[in-house]
Amino acid sequence: MFSLVIPVYNEEDLIQILFERTIRALELLPIPFEIICVNDGSRDSTYAKLLACHQKDARFKVLSLSRNFGHQSAILAGLHHAKGEVIGIMDGDLQDPPELFKDFYEKLEEGFDVVYAVRKKRKEGVLKKAAYKFYYRFLGRITSQDMPLDSGDFSIFRRNVLDKMLDMPEQSLFLRGLRAWVGFRQTGFEYERDERLAGDPKYNFARLLKLAYDGVFSFSRFPIKFVGYLGIFAVCFSIIYTIYLLSKKFFWGDVIEGYTSLILVIFFFGGVQLISLRILGEYVSRNYDEARGRPLFIVAEKHLGE
Ligand code: UDP
Ligand code: MG
Repeated sequence: MFSLVIPVYNEEDLIQILFERTIRALELLPIPFEIICVNDGSRDSTYAKLLACHQKDARFKVLSLSRNFGHQSAILAGLHHAKGEVIGIMDGDLQDPPELFKDFYEKLEEGFDVVYAVRKKRKEGVLKKAAYKFYYRFLGRITSQDMPLDSGDFSIFRRNVLDKMLDMPEQSLFLRGLRAWVGFRQTGFEYERDERLAGDPKYNFARLLKLAYDGVFSFSRFPIKFVGYLGIFAVCFSIIYTIYLLSKKFFWGDVIEGYTSLILVIFFFGGVQLISLRILGEYVSRNYDEARGRPLFIVAEKHLGE
């Protein structure tokens, strides 16, 4: 069986078409399927509409979380309930065309464990596109493992990959990173990312930033190394400056001058220390999150048809 996980949050305008289009697309697969649509604490009529779809077709299953836990947690909730031996993830706004699952599946059959979608083109703002492009290249550079470029959660993979992913009890979820981290035979599949069919993006800037942070902090030691580099830079700077000041003092007898440079140096090192503290603090708070080990989602209601 193929299990497709779709997270949705306040997507009332989309549910009907999402339901119809996805079912139609998955019927082209050579194996039976289930769709697990996760209602991530929607405040509009999304949940009621999902239930209506479930009534019409029992293969369309619904999981409702107790509040809004965020995109990654909603996907995780769905993954925990997936029964299939092949599992897929797709956004609920139809930016990821479900018709591609047929191609993904054929690729998987060629002998892969993971087929992830690579965005050849994005139909989004120039600034957003540039930021995404920069981010994935930066992340690829600072992580020691292979991170596929321009690839999100849209993918399919086999059960063995899912089991390994679910074995990792991480608090800062970056599923696309975990999927790459587990290894096995992985391959990319290029596609053009569509525009959102209706409604507004649910990721605001702060949430995108959090996801970006999670990727960086969970998959590299770059931030803490960066603090080290800052320190080395500051020490080199101060050695050179000391030599300059001492030679000025001994050769020219210039002692009193230097208020401006003093203030500058104080500000500079103050800044370096605050940045370092912020980075260190991020590690501490992430440790705290891990230590508390709160659940990443709470399921309020299940309509899985069992
Ligand atoms: N989503 C969710 N919970 C959230 C935010 C988003 O389940 O807290 C869903 C949303 O309904 C959509 C998918 O995650 O189906 C991707 O969200 P969005 O389109 O806003 O992200 P973007 O495409 O801008 O990355
Ligand atoms: Mg979207």
